[in-house]
Amino acid sequence: MRGLAERAQKLSPSPTLSVDTKAKELLRQGEKVINFGAGEPDFDTPEHIKEAAKRALDQGFTKYTPVAGILPLREAICEKLYRDNQLEYSPDEIVVSCGAKHSLYNALQVLLNPGDEVIIPVPYWTSYPEQVKLAGGVPVFVPTTPENDFKLRPEDLRAAVTPRTRLLILNSPANPTGSVYRREELIGLAEVALEADLWILSDEIYEKLIYDGMEHVSIAALDPEVKKRTVVVNGVSKAYAMTGWRIGYAAAPRPVAQAMINLQSHSTSNPASVAQAAALAALKGPQEPVESMRQAFQKRRDFIWQHLNSLPGVRCPKPLGAFYVFPEVSGLLGRRLKGREIASASDLALFLLEEIKVATVAGAAFGDDHYLRFSYALRLEDIEEGMQRFKELLEAAL
Ligand code: PLP
Repeated sequence: MRGLAERAQKLSPSPTLSVDTKAKELLRQGEKVINFGAGEPDFDTPEHIKEAAKRALDQGFTKYTPVAGILPLREAICEKLYRDNQLEYSPDEIVVSCGAKHSLYNALQVLLNPGDEVIIPVPYWTSYPEQVKLAGGVPVFVPTTPENDFKLRPEDLRAAVTPRTRLLILNSPANPTGSVYRREELIGLAEVALEADLWILSDEIYEKLIYDGMEHVSIAALDPEVKKRTVVVNGVSKAYAMTGWRIGYAAAPRPVAQAMINLQSHSTSNPASVAQAAALAALKGPQEPVESMRQAFQKRRDFIWQHLNSLPGVRCPKPLGAFYVFPEVSGLLGRRLKGREIASASDLALFLLEEIKVATVAGAAFGDDHYLRFSYALRLEDIEEGMQRFKELLEAAL
Protein backbone atom coordinates (compact mmCIF):
# COMPACT_ATOMS: atom_id res chain seq x y z
CA MET A 1 0.00 0.00 0.00
CA ARG A 2 1.24 3.48 -0.79
CA GLY A 3 2.19 5.64 2.21
CA LEU A 4 1.81 9.30 3.02
CA ALA A 5 3.21 12.08 0.89
CA GLU A 6 6.74 13.25 1.70
CA ARG A 7 5.26 16.58 2.76
CA ALA A 8 3.22 14.90 5.48
CA GLN A 9 6.09 12.72 6.63
CA LYS A 10 8.26 15.77 7.25
CA LEU A 11 5.66 17.42 9.47
CA SER A 12 5.70 17.26 13.25
CA PRO A 13 2.65 17.97 15.41
CA SER A 14 2.50 21.32 17.20
CA PRO A 15 4.40 20.62 20.47
CA THR A 16 2.75 23.55 22.23
CA LEU A 17 -0.70 22.15 21.53
CA SER A 18 0.31 18.62 22.59
CA VAL A 19 1.52 19.74 26.06
CA ASP A 20 -1.72 21.61 26.47
CA THR A 21 -3.65 18.46 25.50
CA LYS A 22 -1.72 16.34 28.03
CA ALA A 23 -2.32 18.89 30.79
CA LYS A 24 -6.03 19.07 29.95
CA GLU A 25 -6.23 15.26 30.02
CA LEU A 26 -4.73 15.23 33.55
CA LEU A 27 -7.23 17.93 34.55
CA ARG A 28 -10.07 15.77 33.25
CA GLN A 29 -8.77 12.94 35.41
CA GLY A 30 -9.28 15.23 38.41
CA GLU A 31 -5.61 16.24 38.92
CA LYS A 32 -5.02 19.81 40.08
CA VAL A 33 -2.78 20.79 37.19
CA ILE A 34 -1.43 24.32 36.95
CA ASN A 35 -1.26 24.86 33.23
CA PHE A 36 1.46 27.28 32.16
CA GLY A 37 1.30 25.73 28.69
CA ALA A 38 -1.63 27.72 27.36
CA GLY A 39 -1.14 29.93 24.34
CA GLU A 40 -4.38 31.85 24.76
CA PRO A 41 -5.81 34.51 27.08
CA ASP A 42 -7.81 33.02 29.95
CA PHE A 43 -10.34 35.87 29.72
CA ASP A 44 -13.68 35.45 27.99
CA THR A 45 -14.38 37.32 24.74
CA PRO A 46 -15.83 40.73 25.71
CA GLU A 47 -19.62 40.80 25.90
CA HIS A 48 -20.25 43.37 23.15
CA ILE A 49 -18.34 41.17 20.68
CA LYS A 50 -20.41 38.11 21.54
CA GLU A 51 -23.58 40.22 21.23
CA ALA A 52 -22.55 41.29 17.72
CA ALA A 53 -22.12 37.65 16.73
CA LYS A 54 -25.54 36.74 18.16
CA ARG A 55 -27.15 39.61 16.25
CA ALA A 56 -25.45 38.49 13.04
CA LEU A 57 -26.84 34.99 13.51
CA ASP A 58 -30.35 36.30 14.23
CA GLN A 59 -30.16 38.41 11.08
CA GLY A 60 -29.30 35.34 9.00
CA PHE A 61 -25.71 36.35 8.31
CA THR A 62 -24.84 32.73 7.72
CA LYS A 63 -23.80 32.48 4.08
CA TYR A 64 -20.58 32.68 2.09
CA THR A 65 -18.91 36.07 2.13
CA PRO A 66 -16.25 37.43 -0.23
CA VAL A 67 -13.14 35.21 0.07
CA ALA A 68 -11.00 38.05 1.49
CA GLY A 69 -13.64 38.95 4.10
CA ILE A 70 -16.56 41.40 4.14
CA LEU A 71 -15.76 44.94 3.03
CA PRO A 72 -16.74 46.63 6.35
CA LEU A 73 -14.26 44.37 8.16
CA ARG A 74 -11.47 45.07 5.67
CA GLU A 75 -12.24 48.79 5.99
CA ALA A 76 -12.10 48.53 9.77
CA ILE A 77 -8.73 46.77 9.48
CA CYS A 78 -7.44 49.61 7.25
CA GLU A 79 -8.64 52.14 9.85
CA LYS A 80 -6.92 50.17 12.61
CA LEU A 81 -3.64 49.93 10.68
CA TYR A 82 -3.74 53.67 10.02
CA ARG A 83 -4.69 54.63 13.58
CA ASP A 84 -2.38 52.27 15.46
CA ASN A 85 0.49 51.68 13.06
CA GLN A 86 0.54 54.71 10.72
CA LEU A 87 0.12 52.31 7.80
CA GLU A 88 -2.00 53.21 4.80
CA TYR A 89 -3.64 50.28 3.05
CA SER A 90 -6.74 50.02 0.91
CA PRO A 91 -9.28 47.21 1.48
CA ASP A 92 -8.03 45.33 -1.60
CA GLU A 93 -4.66 44.93 0.12
CA ILE A 94 -6.25 43.17 3.11
CA VAL A 95 -6.98 39.44 3.31
CA VAL A 96 -8.94 38.09 6.26
CA SER A 97 -8.21 34.44 7.05
CA CYS A 98 -8.97 31.75 9.64
CA GLY A 99 -6.56 33.07 12.28
CA ALA A 100 -3.16 34.72 11.99
CA LYS A 101 -1.69 31.23 11.61
CA HIS A 102 -3.63 30.85 8.37
CA SER A 103 -2.53 34.32 7.18
CA LEU A 104 1.12 33.34 7.74
CA TYR A 105 0.56 30.07 5.91
CA ASN A 106 -1.01 31.81 2.93
CA ALA A 107 1.79 34.38 2.78
CA LEU A 108 4.52 31.73 2.77
CA GLN A 109 2.70 29.70 0.14
CA VAL A 110 2.53 32.61 -2.28
CA LEU A 111 6.02 34.02 -1.61
CA LEU A 112 8.29 30.97 -1.57
CA ASN A 113 9.67 28.80 -4.34
CA PRO A 114 11.14 25.35 -3.62
CA GLY A 115 14.59 25.69 -2.07
CA ASP A 116 14.19 29.33 -1.03
CA GLU A 117 15.84 30.08 2.28
CA VAL A 118 13.87 31.75 5.05
CA ILE A 119 15.61 33.36 7.99
CA ILE A 120 14.01 32.50 11.32
CA PRO A 121 15.49 33.98 14.50
CA VAL A 122 15.77 31.43 17.34
CA PRO A 123 13.86 31.07 19.64
CA TYR A 124 10.96 31.04 17.19
CA TRP A 125 7.25 30.39 17.29
CA THR A 126 6.90 26.70 16.69
CA SER A 127 4.84 26.84 13.48
CA TYR A 128 7.24 28.98 11.42
CA PRO A 129 9.68 26.24 10.38
CA GLU A 130 6.88 23.78 9.61
CA GLN A 131 4.99 26.33 7.53
CA VAL A 132 8.17 27.23 5.65
CA LYS A 133 8.80 23.56 4.87
CA LEU A 134 5.20 23.10 3.74
CA ALA A 135 5.80 25.87 1.22
CA GLY A 136 8.95 24.10 -0.06
CA GLY A 137 11.26 26.58 1.68
CA VAL A 138 14.33 25.89 3.79
CA PRO A 139 14.37 27.32 7.33
CA VAL A 140 17.68 28.99 8.22
CA PHE A 141 17.90 29.37 11.97
CA VAL A 142 19.79 32.32 13.39
CA PRO A 143 20.43 32.17 17.14
CA THR A 144 19.85 35.14 19.41
CA THR A 145 20.94 35.50 23.04
CA PRO A 146 19.24 36.42 26.33
CA GLU A 147 21.91 39.13 26.76
CA ASN A 148 20.43 40.79 23.69
CA ASP A 149 16.84 40.10 24.83
CA PHE A 150 16.59 37.40 22.15
CA LYS A 151 16.56 39.92 19.32
CA LEU A 152 18.10 39.50 15.90
CA ARG A 153 20.82 42.07 15.18
CA PRO A 154 21.47 43.46 11.70
CA GLU A 155 24.93 41.85 11.65
CA ASP A 156 23.41 38.44 12.47
CA LEU A 157 20.95 38.88 9.63
CA ARG A 158 23.63 40.00 7.16
CA ALA A 159 25.83 37.03 8.02
CA ALA A 160 22.96 34.59 7.40
CA VAL A 161 21.97 35.94 3.98
CA THR A 162 22.92 33.87 0.92
CA PRO A 163 21.90 34.25 -2.73
CA ARG A 164 19.00 31.85 -1.96
CA THR A 165 17.60 33.90 0.92
CA ARG A 166 14.14 35.16 0.07
CA LEU A 167 12.36 36.05 3.27
CA LEU A 168 12.84 37.07 6.89
CA ILE A 169 10.27 36.22 9.56
CA LEU A 170 9.98 38.77 12.36
CA ASN A 171 7.75 38.46 15.39
CA SER A 172 7.36 41.39 17.77
CA PRO A 173 6.17 41.17 20.51
CA ALA A 174 7.51 37.64 20.39
CA ASN A 175 6.35 34.21 21.35
CA PRO A 176 8.04 32.55 23.30
CA THR A 177 10.42 35.24 24.62
CA GLY A 178 8.20 38.30 25.04
CA SER A 179 10.85 40.42 23.29
CA VAL A 180 9.82 43.66 21.64
CA TYR A 181 11.89 45.30 18.90
CA ARG A 182 12.54 49.03 19.18
CA ARG A 183 12.31 51.35 16.21
CA GLU A 184 16.11 51.73 15.83
CA GLU A 185 16.55 47.96 15.88
CA LEU A 186 13.94 47.53 13.16
CA ILE A 187 15.60 50.24 11.06
CA GLY A 188 18.86 48.24 11.16
CA LEU A 189 17.11 45.04 10.08
CA ALA A 190 15.11 46.80 7.37
CA GLU A 191 18.33 48.20 5.88
CA VAL A 192 19.73 44.70 5.50
CA ALA A 193 16.42 43.44 4.05
CA LEU A 194 16.56 46.21 1.44
CA GLU A 195 20.22 45.53 0.61
CA ALA A 196 19.60 41.80 0.24
CA ASP A 197 16.23 42.22 -1.50
CA LEU A 198 14.27 40.18 1.06
CA TRP A 199 10.58 39.83 1.75
CA ILE A 200 9.66 40.48 5.38
CA LEU A 201 6.86 38.58 7.06
CA SER A 202 6.01 40.57 10.18
CA ASP A 203 3.90 38.70 12.73
CA GLU A 204 2.36 41.34 15.01
CA ILE A 205 -0.34 39.25 16.67
CA TYR A 206 0.77 40.27 20.20
CA GLU A 207 0.85 43.99 19.37
CA LYS A 208 -1.65 45.00 22.07
CA LEU A 209 0.03 43.07 24.86
CA ILE A 210 3.00 45.26 25.57
CA TYR A 211 4.31 46.58 28.90
CA ASP A 212 6.40 49.16 30.71
CA GLY A 213 5.45 51.91 28.28
CA MET A 214 7.01 50.13 25.29
CA GLU A 215 5.68 51.16 21.89
CA HIS A 216 4.80 48.63 19.20
CA VAL A 217 6.40 49.57 15.88
CA SER A 218 5.45 47.84 12.65
CA ILE A 219 8.50 47.46 10.44
CA ALA A 220 6.32 48.22 7.41
CA ALA A 221 5.73 51.74 8.78
CA LEU A 222 9.41 52.68 8.67
CA ASP A 223 9.53 53.58 5.00
CA PRO A 224 7.45 53.06 1.82
CA GLU A 225 10.27 50.93 0.37
CA VAL A 226 10.06 48.62 3.38
CA LYS A 227 6.25 48.49 3.20
CA LYS A 228 6.49 47.32 -0.43
CA ARG A 229 8.35 44.19 0.64
CA THR A 230 6.48 43.44 3.87
CA VAL A 231 3.44 41.36 4.69
CA VAL A 232 1.99 42.46 8.03
CA VAL A 233 0.06 39.77 9.90
CA ASN A 234 -2.21 40.51 12.81
CA GLY A 235 -5.60 39.39 14.13
CA VAL A 236 -8.09 39.47 16.94
CA SER A 237 -7.13 36.24 18.76
CA LYS A 238 -4.80 37.56 21.44
CA ALA A 239 -5.89 41.20 21.85
CA TYR A 240 -9.61 40.46 22.22
CA ALA A 241 -9.46 36.97 23.75
CA MET A 242 -10.92 35.52 20.55
CA THR A 243 -8.67 32.52 19.83
CA GLY A 244 -11.59 30.23 19.04
CA TRP A 245 -13.21 32.57 16.55
CA ARG A 246 -10.34 32.11 14.08
CA ILE A 247 -9.95 35.55 12.53
CA GLY A 248 -6.57 36.86 11.46
CA TYR A 249 -5.55 39.11 8.62
CA ALA A 250 -2.69 40.09 6.35
CA ALA A 251 -1.93 43.49 4.87
CA ALA A 252 0.24 43.17 1.80
CA PRO A 253 1.15 44.78 -1.52
CA ARG A 254 -1.76 44.26 -3.92
CA PRO A 255 -0.27 41.42 -6.06
CA VAL A 256 0.64 39.47 -2.91
CA ALA A 257 -2.80 40.05 -1.39
CA GLN A 258 -4.44 38.95 -4.65
CA ALA A 259 -2.35 35.76 -4.74
CA MET A 260 -3.32 35.01 -1.15
CA ILE A 261 -6.99 35.50 -2.03
CA ASN A 262 -6.65 33.14 -5.01
CA LEU A 263 -5.02 30.52 -2.81
CA GLN A 264 -7.63 30.91 -0.08
CA SER A 265 -10.42 30.71 -2.66
CA HIS A 266 -9.34 27.11 -3.36
CA SER A 267 -8.73 26.05 0.23
CA THR A 268 -10.91 27.48 3.00
CA SER A 269 -12.82 30.22 1.12
CA ASN A 270 -13.93 32.97 3.49
CA PRO A 271 -13.46 32.73 7.24
CA ALA A 272 -16.74 32.10 9.13
CA SER A 273 -19.27 34.87 8.48
CA VAL A 274 -20.35 35.14 12.12
CA ALA A 275 -16.74 35.35 13.32
CA GLN A 276 -16.18 38.19 10.86
CA ALA A 277 -19.13 40.07 12.38
CA ALA A 278 -17.57 39.53 15.81
CA ALA A 279 -14.14 40.73 14.62
CA LEU A 280 -15.76 43.86 13.16
CA ALA A 281 -17.28 44.63 16.57
CA ALA A 282 -13.92 43.99 18.22
CA LEU A 283 -12.10 46.48 15.99
CA LYS A 284 -14.83 49.14 15.92
CA GLY A 285 -16.14 48.82 19.47
CA PRO A 286 -14.83 50.00 22.85
CA GLN A 287 -11.15 49.18 23.42
CA GLU A 288 -11.28 49.31 27.25
CA PRO A 289 -11.44 45.50 27.62
CA VAL A 290 -8.09 45.24 25.78
CA GLU A 291 -6.51 47.68 28.21
CA SER A 292 -7.87 45.93 31.29
CA MET A 293 -6.59 42.56 30.04
CA ARG A 294 -3.22 44.14 29.30
CA GLN A 295 -2.99 45.53 32.82
CA ALA A 296 -3.86 42.15 34.32
CA PHE A 297 -1.16 40.50 32.18
CA GLN A 298 1.40 43.07 33.26
CA LYS A 299 0.71 42.38 36.93
CA ARG A 300 1.09 38.64 36.38
CA ARG A 301 4.26 39.11 34.36
CA ASP A 302 5.81 41.13 37.18
CA PHE A 303 5.03 38.39 39.67
CA ILE A 304 6.14 35.37 37.63
CA TRP A 305 9.28 37.01 36.27
CA GLN A 306 10.47 38.04 39.72
CA HIS A 307 9.63 34.68 41.18
CA LEU A 308 11.39 32.67 38.46
CA ASN A 309 14.52 34.76 38.75
CA SER A 310 14.64 34.07 42.50
CA LEU A 311 14.89 30.30 41.91
CA PRO A 312 18.26 28.55 41.86
CA GLY A 313 19.43 27.57 38.37
CA VAL A 314 16.78 29.70 36.64
CA ARG A 315 17.23 33.10 34.99
CA CYS A 316 15.38 35.14 32.42
CA PRO A 317 15.35 38.62 30.92
CA LYS A 318 12.23 40.65 31.60
CA PRO A 319 9.71 40.11 28.81
CA LEU A 320 8.19 43.33 27.48
CA GLY A 321 5.28 41.88 25.56
CA ALA A 322 2.99 38.90 24.81
CA PHE A 323 2.11 36.64 27.79
CA TYR A 324 5.11 34.36 28.16
CA VAL A 325 8.32 34.23 30.20
CA PHE A 326 11.17 32.19 28.81
CA PRO A 327 13.64 31.35 31.57
CA GLU A 328 16.92 29.61 30.90
CA VAL A 329 17.13 26.48 33.04
CA SER A 330 20.68 25.35 32.12
CA GLY A 331 21.55 25.48 35.83
CA LEU A 332 19.12 22.61 36.46
CA LEU A 333 20.23 20.42 33.58
CA GLY A 334 22.75 17.60 33.72
CA ARG A 335 21.65 16.76 37.28
CA ARG A 336 19.66 14.08 39.00
CA LEU A 337 16.52 15.46 40.59
CA LYS A 338 14.69 13.04 42.91
CA GLY A 339 16.56 10.17 41.29
CA ARG A 340 15.74 11.24 37.74
CA GLU A 341 18.25 12.25 35.12
CA ILE A 342 17.37 15.74 33.83
CA ALA A 343 19.42 16.18 30.67
CA SER A 344 17.28 18.71 28.82
CA ALA A 345 14.46 21.18 29.30
CA SER A 346 12.18 18.54 27.77
CA ASP A 347 13.11 16.16 30.61
CA LEU A 348 12.50 18.96 33.09
CA ALA A 349 9.09 19.82 31.62
CA LEU A 350 8.00 16.18 31.90
CA PHE A 351 9.38 15.99 35.44
CA LEU A 352 7.44 19.11 36.46
CA LEU A 353 4.23 17.80 34.96
CA GLU A 354 4.50 14.37 36.57
CA GLU A 355 6.00 15.39 39.89
CA ILE A 356 4.13 18.58 40.78
CA LYS A 357 1.46 18.77 38.06
CA VAL A 358 2.88 21.95 36.60
CA ALA A 359 2.61 22.13 32.80
CA THR A 360 5.14 24.19 30.82
CA VAL A 361 6.47 23.95 27.29
CA ALA A 362 10.09 22.87 26.79
CA GLY A 363 12.29 25.13 24.70
CA ALA A 364 12.77 22.34 22.14
CA ALA A 365 9.46 23.49 20.67
CA PHE A 366 11.07 26.87 19.96
CA GLY A 367 14.51 25.74 18.84
CA ASP A 368 16.52 25.70 22.09
CA ASP A 369 16.08 23.07 24.78
CA HIS A 370 17.81 25.01 27.56
CA TYR A 371 14.63 26.98 28.28
CA LEU A 372 11.09 26.50 29.50
CA ARG A 373 8.18 28.62 28.39
CA PHE A 374 5.69 29.68 31.05
CA SER A 375 2.53 31.33 29.83
CA TYR A 376 1.01 33.73 32.35
CA ALA A 377 -2.42 33.66 30.76
CA LEU A 378 -3.88 32.15 33.91
CA ARG A 379 -5.21 33.50 37.20
CA LEU A 380 -2.71 35.14 39.53
CA GLU A 381 -3.67 32.67 42.29
CA ASP A 382 -2.80 29.78 40.00
CA ILE A 383 0.49 31.40 39.02
CA GLU A 384 1.32 31.80 42.72
CA GLU A 385 0.41 28.19 43.43
CA GLY A 386 2.48 26.92 40.48
CA MET A 387 5.50 28.98 41.50
CA GLN A 388 5.20 27.74 45.08
CA ARG A 389 5.18 24.12 43.87
CA PHE A 390 8.23 24.75 41.66
CA LYS A 391 10.11 26.42 44.52
CA GLU A 392 9.33 23.63 46.98
CA LEU A 393 10.33 20.99 44.45
CA LEU A 394 13.70 22.62 43.84
CA GLU A 395 14.27 23.05 47.59
CA ALA A 396 13.60 19.37 48.10
CA ALA A 397 15.52 18.15 45.06
CA LEU A 398 18.67 20.28 44.98
N1 PLP B 1 1.75 34.00 15.72
C1 PLP B 1 2.22 33.76 16.95
C2 PLP B 1 3.58 34.26 17.31
C3 PLP B 1 1.45 33.05 17.88
O1 PLP B 1 1.92 32.80 19.10
C4 PLP B 1 0.18 32.57 17.49
C5 PLP B 1 -0.66 31.78 18.40
O2 PLP B 1 -0.21 31.16 19.33
C6 PLP B 1 -0.27 32.86 16.21
C7 PLP B 1 0.54 33.58 15.34
C8 PLP B 1 -1.60 32.37 15.70
O3 PLP B 1 -2.65 33.19 16.04
P1 PLP B 1 -4.13 32.81 15.61
O4 PLP B 1 -4.77 32.15 16.77
O5 PLP B 1 -4.77 34.10 15.24
O6 PLP B 1 -4.03 31.89 14.44
